[in-house]
Amino acid sequence: MKIGFIGAGKMAQALVRGMLASGRFSPECLIASSPKRDEPLLNDMKKLGIQTTNDNVEVTHKSDVIFLAVKPPLVRTVAAEVAPSLSKDKLVVSIALGITIRSIESLLPTKARVVRVMPNTPAVVRAGASAYSIGSACHEGDSDIVYDILSTVGYAVEVPESLVDPVTGLSGSGPSYMFCAIEALSDGGVKMGLPRALALKLAAHTLLGAAKMVLETGQHPAALKDDVQSPSGSSIYAMHHLEKSAFRGILIDAVEAACNRSKDTG
Ligand code: NAD
Repeated sequence: MKIGFIGAGKMAQALVRGMLASGRFSPECLIASSPKRDEPLLNDMKKLGIQTTNDNVEVTHKSDVIFLAVKPPLVRTVAAEVAPSLSKDKLVVSIALGITIRSIESLLPTKARVVRVMPNTPAVVRAGASAYSIGSACHEGDSDIVYDILSTVGYAVEVPESLVDPVTGLSGSGPSYMFCAIEALSDGGVKMGLPRALALKLAAHTLLGAAKMVLETGQHPAALKDDVQSPSGSSIYAMHHLEKSAFRGILIDAVEAACNRSKDTG
């Protein structure tokens, strides 16, 4: 199976790097395009050993699965550009924020097979989280094709399309909130006397460990939180501060804001 990427930016590169690291895909299976003005991005892809081009139509010709990995306002232009070269044996996978399957289908030949995915950048280290929805003209087996690709770079799950905007608010944009949390935790460590490098490592491992415990123990996060908080201990004192500053409310607001932004983009 040949996989093409139209767009060679941050998200396409995260997917390509993760897919290559998985060992399931060799560089010869992959091709990416972007305009000449963005040659440095294509050069990054070239260094990974994959084929590159400035011609989006070449990507569709040479690929069985074509990822549309351009910014949302460009999806319509790019879809219209490649539409004449799309035969029925091609699967189109859009990763664009907010753009519905129906709007992509409307730009492609009738019965075009379209899938909408919301991935995230931790795909680069094969710890991504992707949710995807299957278009009306997809064949039996298309969901498995997309699952097989996305599961090489992390967790993958099929969802109804109505859930893709909420997924964007949570896991699509979520890495940025968590990078900010890691930075802020390490600032706290530095304020209290830890060297920066040590603080950063401890902060990142703390989030990684907490996430692994949720996934591997299957316990509710509230129960895991309670286990850390001994009577009159340091954690409950810290928790009181977080609650006074509406820690949970702020995170809920963030997911809601990103979800609504995704809906507005469409
Ligand atoms: P980016 O700006 O890093 O990359 C965009 C790419 O599109 C660049 O390589 C650019 O050269 C290329 N491009 C521009 N015009 C083009 C054209 N006419 N033909 C072909 N390529 C063209 O953006 P990104 O962050 O990688 O986002 C790409 C898509 O992925 C967006 O639709 C975004 O919503 C989605 N997405 C991004 C993230 C993320 O964390 N960055 C997460 C989930 C989904």
